[in-house]
Amino acid sequence: MNSILDNAVGQIRESGQRLHLSELAIEQLIAPAGVVHFRLPLEKDDGSVEIYDAYRSQHSDKLGPFKGGLRFHPQVDAEEVQGLSTLMSIKTAVAGIPMGGGKGGVAVNPKDLSEAELERLTRAFGAKLAPYIGPKRDVPAPDVNTNGKIMGWLLDEYEQFAGEDAPATYTGKAVESGGSEGREDATGRGGVIVTAQLLESMNLGDNPTVAIQGFGNVGSWFARLGEQRGWKIIAVSDSSATVHDINGLNAAELADQKANGGSLKDIAGSELKVTDRDEVFSVDCDILVLAALENSVTKDNVNDIKATLVVEMANNPITAEAYDTLVKRGVQVAPDVLANAGGVIVSYYEWQQNLSGDEWTTKDVAKKLEDQLHQAATQVIDRATDANLNFKDAAFDVAIKKLV
Ligand code: NAD
Repeated sequence: MNSILDNAVGQIRESGQRLHLSELAIEQLIAPAGVVHFRLPLEKDDGSVEIYDAYRSQHSDKLGPFKGGLRFHPQVDAEEVQGLSTLMSIKTAVAGIPMGGGKGGVAVNPKDLSEAELERLTRAFGAKLAPYIGPKRDVPAPDVNTNGKIMGWLLDEYEQFAGEDAPATYTGKAVESGGSEGREDATGRGGVIVTAQLLESMNLGDNPTVAIQGFGNVGSWFARLGEQRGWKIIAVSDSSATVHDINGLNAAELADQKANGGSLKDIAGSELKVTDRDEVFSVDCDILVLAALENSVTKDNVNDIKATLVVEMANNPITAEAYDTLVKRGVQVAPDVLANAGGVIVSYYEWQQNLSGDEWTTKDVAKKLEDQLHQAATQVIDRATDANLNFKDAAFDVAIKKLV
């Protein structure tokens, strides 16, 4: 039982039972409002035609419009988007924003397409999606392999359909096209805010040692902002290697170097220890941050983990079986639905700014995010303390109570 959908459904069932909900109420929480499937024929540059499957899962709009990303990846299918949209409904509820859960995408590797083909495929998807979405109905955003430029093409298709300007239909736009300041670092920043609060509740001190799997956008911002709080980042990994310095890496410098291209293995230099990429799991540290891929921690590597707190920055980075092992060992997990909610919260701020015409500064956004996540983490910690639960179960309870 390792699919995101199975895990999310399992957690909702357990939470519903803890909260004494009826079987009907639990099944109503699990069932998506709808999942649409499109077939998109694309004329390639050489005149041949290829057909791509595309989906949008709208899980819940009980608290506000469906909200969640659109990814372009060969593994996209109906079950994956349904699982991810279910997690989004829980995430927006935990975060305390008036939005629901959605997710979608196209089963394609965009690297196989020319720029013109990518635009034609994106626009075909945007035209099909248009009748199902809108600022008050469903507000998609970028996700794996999609970005502000792709959101621009999709928005253009929606606006042609609606016959009006409607920038609040898509978030994750470039700042010049109505995007929000503060989106780039939002997920990493949110992870640090939540982790700091959980550390305090666990009495783990202010200067923990940290290892990070995945040094991309989320992992590198987590490292930089954690470092600013005095946390010692002793190992980071990417798909090429793990680099270590027991005295603390210079995370900001590494992130700048990585932003210029290149893998950690290439940029590490001779003064850092470089090992296999999966060594990151066994680093002796207080906090292990998972910021790479789903299902990274499995029954095969879970017993390597020495950290006291594991932070889920990727979605569903721990399989259900491995998660049970961590719980039995007394390792605490900062759940994805709380730890990585910073991104969707700032997407919500973008939507609010588009609807009101306001423009918030980077400082405004960071302050609002801090307050929002502080409140969300407090609710999770309080539920965990009152009902003697781990943070993941507590987070699901907080969300389910709001959704019913
Ligand atoms: P990214 O593509 O910028 O970075 C991913 C990093 O993981 C890269 O450095 C890559 O080399 C590394 N990686 C890949 N496979 C690895 C492996 N086996 N071992 C170690 N490292 C590996 O992506 P991102 O935006 O930083 O997102 C990271 C994760 O967080 C993804 O799972 C994403 O779905 C999730 N997430 C992202 C956001 C967001 O706002 N960006 C929000 C919520 C969740």
